[in-house]
Amino acid sequence: MLEFSFFIVGLLFGSFANVCILRLPKDKDVFFLKSKCFNCEKEILWKNNIPLLSYLNLAGISECCKKKISLQYPIIELTMALLFLINSILFETSQAFVMSIIFFILLLIIVIDFYERIIFDFMNYFLIISGISVSIINPKLNPENITILNSAVTCIVSFVFFYFLKELFKKKKNIEALGMGDVYLIAGLGAWLGFEKFCYILSISSIIGILYYLFRGNNDKNFEIPYGSALGVSFILLVYSDNFLHIIT
Ligand SMILES: [Zn+2]
Repeated sequence: MLEFSFFIVGLLFGSFANVCILRLPKDKDVFFLKSKCFNCEKEILWKNNIPLLSYLNLAGISECCKKKISLQYPIIELTMALLFLINSILFETSQAFVMSIIFFILLLIIVIDFYERIIFDFMNYFLIISGISVSIINPKLNPENITILNSAVTCIVSFVFFYFLKELFKKKKNIEALGMGDVYLIAGLGAWLGFEKFCYILSISSIIGILYYLFRGNNDKNFEIPYGSALGVSFILLVYSDNFLHIIT
């Protein structure tokens, strides 16, 4: 029953994530604007705005103007719901709740960075502040269960190191190898992971980034790797594999 509730709440968060992904990069309100059709801008009826079910019911065609609805909507909703569900199975309830919020923010970072190459500062600040505060309030809320010292030091050291790396590249090669958003995100994930796991995530995200670069569809020389997306995916994979191993061993 608890797992089912997490799944349903995950669907709702997924639906809100779709709103944020569309509107945040355009600087539009995410809370009070009514949902409109992506094509004809007609207001969407509540019965056509139910996560996942409405898409299935409409067979992916908008009711107002009979246009194909992007598959991205149900995919994001289902992904969020599955992440919430897995959290409720892998973690204790309070941990599952905390990690679901963190994964919600990460999913936004992953998708928005992928499409727009933007990582919003307020999301990074949220990760940094929540990562350190959880270690102060109750380290067990973080499945990685790290000390406040580990959390704070990893956050600061990773920030300083990558900030200098970014500045060095700019000075020597005159290129923006890393954005400031990437540097803050690295610090935020460091605050959640502690030093050891933080080193893992750098390797995993580099491999994901390089694979994506090699297998991307276009051959644009100025192509920028969405490193924030790679970091976000790596974080989720790492936390899951780590805790999955705990359960089976
Ligand atoms: Zn329409």
